Amino acid sequence: MTSVGIIGSGFGAIGVAVELRRHGHDDVRLWEKADDLGGVWRDNTYPGAGCDAPSPIYSWSWAPNERWSRRYARQPEIIDYIHEVADAYAVTPLIRFGHEVVAAAWNDEGRVWTVMFADGSSDTVDVLVPAVGQLSRPVLPGIPGIEDFAGPSFHSARWDHDADLTGRVAVIGTGASAIQFVPHLVDTAREVTLFQRTPNYILPKPDSGYAGWYGRGVRAERPLLQGVSELFSQGLDKGTVVARLNRRVALSLLRLQVRDPELRRTLTPQYPIGCKRILFSNDWYPALSRPHVEVITEPVERITGAGIAHGGREQAFDAIVYGTGFDAQDFLDSIEIRGVGGRLLSQQWSDGARAYLGVHVPHFPNLFISYGPNTNLGGGSILYMLEAQARHIRQVLDHLHGVGASSAEITEPAAQRWDTTLQHRLERSAWAHCDSWYRDPRSGRITSNWPGATHPYAVATAELDTEAFAWV
Ligand code: NAP
Repeated sequence: MTSVGIIGSGFGAIGVAVELRRHGHDDVRLWEKADDLGGVWRDNTYPGAGCDAPSPIYSWSWAPNERWSRRYARQPEIIDYIHEVADAYAVTPLIRFGHEVVAAAWNDEGRVWTVMFADGSSDTVDVLVPAVGQLSRPVLPGIPGIEDFAGPSFHSARWDHDADLTGRVAVIGTGASAIQFVPHLVDTAREVTLFQRTPNYILPKPDSGYAGWYGRGVRAERPLLQGVSELFSQGLDKGTVVARLNRRVALSLLRLQVRDPELRRTLTPQYPIGCKRILFSNDWYPALSRPHVEVITEPVERITGAGIAHGGREQAFDAIVYGTGFDAQDFLDSIEIRGVGGRLLSQQWSDGARAYLGVHVPHFPNLFISYGPNTNLGGGSILYMLEAQARHIRQVLDHLHGVGASSAEITEPAAQRWDTTLQHRLERSAWAHCDSWYRDPRSGRITSNWPGATHPYAVATAELDTEAFAWV
């Protein structure tokens, strides 16, 4: 039986494990560096943490949850759901906690992967599935003096629940995480100062509680919400009707919720909508309009022992929270992965990550990536993409067994054709028109996101093109 090793234990990893085991591929193990499962939903515990995709679609199609308490579930419910699914499908006992993978090497003769862990131990598997996500490595900004601050300071993905946040709190970054925790912070802190580099387009969040009686309605909402999310994705191409409509709604919300013209000007984005992630919130603008909240657009010059220097002056703070995002372009750089002939994956990807279907990389046989390059979304549910990948990976394993082969490797021409078509399609996207973490900083290639609707991705992954691979 083919042995499969999965790196990680978040949605991606658990989805692959369940899919394989449901289809008779039972030799599966997962390596998790932490002591609990859940990936980003384990790590992001900041106040107000929740999903900006509606829960009826932000859940597995094969594990619908009729107990979501609201349309946009919060982190505690989501992490419970991941635990429930992992337990129900007997994946939890397969996870080896405290195993941080630091390197993996393909053995040309043995046709296996040797996986090395931080503690010096190793393991061997036939198939390696990295499922480490795109947003698992928090980034602290390279601001001078960041080590000097005397008070509590932390990244939003490593929230310090013991820190005293009742005094003067500075927040650096105004992205998808800040928009969720700041409305909570302003309720407890005496003063909140936000350092904004780029404002975002904000749309209203159609959130609501699901009453107990709603029951099966959650399930019924799924196809409707999937349709709405496909429509929304059209607004991520530049100049579409949906993009223009989204922009109009976003600017109307800003006008409606922010009365102060100066603050409104500060919060008005100056780039095509969709270029950076469109955010959803009903309480962000009201929070920023409160009298004890200030938005500063001057660049942060340095962090000092007592506060933050900006605009030639120093402002004192009691605590600093960094909502400065993640190293999304790292992909698998933090693990040394060597393929055929010792070829280094990070070197092959030196001008930006790329993979056929986001899953397969030439010269790296039996390496099947979950949530790989160009499979992130600017809207909608990433679980739709992860499910399609899990099904596809399972099909590759089925075929390996069917033809009695030990390895599958995508051919160079097939991978090149895929990448050329994809990059050509991405030129129509709004992401091609401003800088964001969706692009590789070295080459400018858009390496994170899938363009347009998600259904074409499900179609592309649904049927295995056996001729695109070398089966050995
Ligand atoms: P983010 O959206 O990338 O926001 C980071 C913020 O920090 C941006 O405002 C950025 O400004 C600012 N920033 C970065 N470096 C800075 C510096 N040196 N000085 C000043 N400002 C700086 O990060 P995030 O909010 O953590 O969210 C990341 C992604 O996680 C999201 O896009 C989303 O995909 C995911 N997420 C999802 C949910 C959910 O609901 N499912 C919730 C939270 C996060 P610039 O814009 O100018 O770069």
